[in-house]
Parts: sequence; C-alpha cells; structure tokens
Amino acid sequence: MSADAPLTLDCLACGACCRTGRDGCILVPAEDLARWKSLGREDLVAQLQPGHFGEAAFATRDDGACVHLGTEASANACAIYEVRGTTCRDFERGSAQCHEFRRDAGLE
Ligand code: SF4
Ligand code: SF4
Repeated sequence: MSADAPLTLDCLACGACCRTGRDGCILVPAEDLARWKSLGREDLVAQLQPGHFGEAAFATRDDGACVHLGTEASANACAIYEVRGTTCRDFERGSAQCHEFRRDAGLE
C-alpha cells in the first residue's frame, strides 16, 4: 500500500470501525464521562455499558453498530461527532486496525 493510501480511504463510505459487532469493545475512558457531564450530556453517559478492562464502552445495536452511528445524511456518519469519544478521536484511518475492520466487513 502506498504512503498516501490512508488519504484515499473514505470513512463516510465505510464505518467499519463503528460496526465492531461486539459489545464492550469501543472503550470510553473516564475523561470522556467527565467531559460529557461538564457539557451537560449525561444522556451519553447513561447510554454506556460495561466494557473490557473495567472501562465503560459504547453500547451497540442488534446489528453490531455503535448506537451513535448514522445520521439523516449518512448511515456511516457519527451522530455525536463533535463530542465523540477519545477512542474514536484517536483511531487512525489507514492504521493496521482500520484495515482489519475493513477486511472483517468485506471492504477489502
Ligand atoms: S475502518 Fe478506517 S476507513 Fe473505515 S470508517 Fe474506520 S477509520 Fe474510516
Ligand atoms: S461514538 Fe461515533 S465515532 Fe465513536 S464508535 Fe460510535 S459512531 Fe463511531
């Protein structure tokens, strides 16, 4: 894969990393809970579920997608993009894990 390949990946045509299909995988660190509370978004805290390693995690729907995946504009857009979790912000498009999710989803 060429060095600029990550730039060719279109997240809005993908969404694979938000469709892990497994509960408790997309972890939400305590700093996110504090941030959301300070923003008055206790609703986001209330929707969490227990995750791995004793942390909280985003809940998933029956189809395996994060409960926040999908907007009127795009099925692959994050509905809470501006305040999304640290794990989501730090996830690197084009990383090995990104490609793993894409392969699992049959996108490559
Ligand atoms: S798996 Fe990679 S390309 Fe797909 S939405 Fe996530 S970061 Fe973007
Ligand atoms: S909060 Fe948004 S970016 Fe994070 S997993 Fe859920 S839909 Fe994806």
